[in-house]
Amino acid sequence: MKTGRNMMPHQAAGKRIKNFDEVALGFGKEAAVSEASRCLNCKNAPCKGGCPVGVDIPRFIARVKEKDFDGAAESVNSDNALPAICGRVCPQERQCEARCVLGRTAGGSVAIGALERYVADYSAAHPAISEAVAKDERSAAASGAVAKNGRSVAVIGSGPSGLTAAAELAQAGFSVTVYESLHEAGGVLTYGIPEFRLPKALVKHEIDKLAALGVEFSRNTPVGNAVTGAELLEKNCAVFIAAGAGLPVFLNVKGENLNGVFSANEYLTRVNLMRAYDGRSDTPVYASKNAVIVGAGNVAMDAARTARRLGAEVNLVYRRTRAEMPARAEEIVHAEEEGVKFRLLNAPVEIIGEYGRVTGVRCVDTVLGEPDASGRRAAGEVPESEHIIPCDMLIVALGTTPNPMIKNLFEGLKTTAKGTIITDENGETSVKNVFAGGDAVTGAATVILAMGAGKVAAKAIIARHGKK
Ligand code: SF4
Ligand code: SF4
Repeated sequence: MKTGRNMMPHQAAGKRIKNFDEVALGFGKEAAVSEASRCLNCKNAPCKGGCPVGVDIPRFIARVKEKDFDGAAESVNSDNALPAICGRVCPQERQCEARCVLGRTAGGSVAIGALERYVADYSAAHPAISEAVAKDERSAAASGAVAKNGRSVAVIGSGPSGLTAAAELAQAGFSVTVYESLHEAGGVLTYGIPEFRLPKALVKHEIDKLAALGVEFSRNTPVGNAVTGAELLEKNCAVFIAAGAGLPVFLNVKGENLNGVFSANEYLTRVNLMRAYDGRSDTPVYASKNAVIVGAGNVAMDAARTARRLGAEVNLVYRRTRAEMPARAEEIVHAEEEGVKFRLLNAPVEIIGEYGRVTGVRCVDTVLGEPDASGRRAAGEVPESEHIIPCDMLIVALGTTPNPMIKNLFEGLKTTAKGTIITDENGETSVKNVFAGGDAVTGAATVILAMGAGKVAAKAIIARHGKK
């Protein structure tokens, strides 16, 4: 048996910065079986405790080991509505894999995320089997194995939290309608995460699976405008708000209104949703030869790597050190391999320009002090350290908060000072039968945490309104 972890193959950096194809290529059958064979099938399975959606990890891995890939897919699908997505964008190293007992050995933890991806991709590549499973689920619903319970739920937002809740509720017999303000479903999976990390065909495939379960999607339907929250609550036994956090945080420095300054949200939406990278798209993207990205989370890495693919030299400015970067380690390494230059211990103080267009960013050097209230080391300014980093485009990737309109959706909906929705441990808000989860509650976080919140709220709705 192989003791060391099987490594995921990748497109070479020199090749991938010229295309938008997926960077990580996935395990082949042999590597998947070899990796699954490393799992000890631990009785208490600590890895399971690290998964917010409760995937039965040893169970599906045991099936991969036996080369029963259909059985593995069935096992994963019963716990996780979006396995192809989680296998790619979950921060596995901080979730399930962080708790794997083999993580304490030289060989490293089992590559749980890569195995989940393999199983999901296998299932998608064998449509006859997938169709049979979908048909089984549909006929199960029709035959009464999953009988419709005569109740309906409205889900606001079609991102990871909304999709997970919709899947759970549909499987429990509820009629579910997902309201999406954009013309495509998927939320951040569609407009936020680039094609080279998460191919959009996969997102569509996962959404099609939910449609096959009977979930209805009402696209181009902004709630609060096309339909009110009160109307949804009147027509349904419960509403789940999974509207995400779409309002970008800006630097609030002079020059932020110059042409060529974007929020990462806008830049990535243009490229991912509107396919601005494709020469045939009607929505061009701002051309840049020399870009600065401000921030060091996953979204900053996505923006930096996208700008590289669109031909820019990229400097990423961050006021702390590499050790404090919030992005996944893999994304940081990939960005660096692709030629993104990290300008660490640097803080922007002014964006400068000429004739209304950005030409650079004035920064100061910083020095790290003691941890602040957030637990991270505070970055202090070094006196007389001002310098200019030239650029023709600047992208601010400092996080997002929920749309401030969200609190007007329902009378009496309580939010925090930061605008996030307040819920109890079951995801219920201050308004009875209105639940919320994901970034709308936590502020910008990860796909898997949003999915976990969708599952918690769905369980609470099922417990209150489901078949007794
Ligand atoms: Fe791990 Fe994420 Fe899969 Fe859960 S969903 S098993 S945390 S990769
Ligand atoms: Fe397998 Fe690791 Fe989970 Fe044990 S902790 S069951 S070795 S994945």
